[in-house]
Amino acid sequence: MKLNETLLKVLACPKCKSSVSPQGTVIVCEHCQLAYPLRDGIPVMLIDETRCSKKI
Ligand SMILES: [Zn+2]
Repeated sequence: MKLNETLLKVLACPKCKSSVSPQGTVIVCEHCQLAYPLRDGIPVMLIDETRCSKKI
């Protein structure tokens, strides 16, 4: 499933406002590395829905 590139450009991490990029089945913040899930191809940009892609 290909994401709309225009949509990606306007998306920003709700936590730190950095740009995000698609990585497999998630959208990952380039700054804080939070991973936002995709539901039916729509990014769910909610902090509650994230799982950190880094192991703390
Ligand atoms: Zn972030």
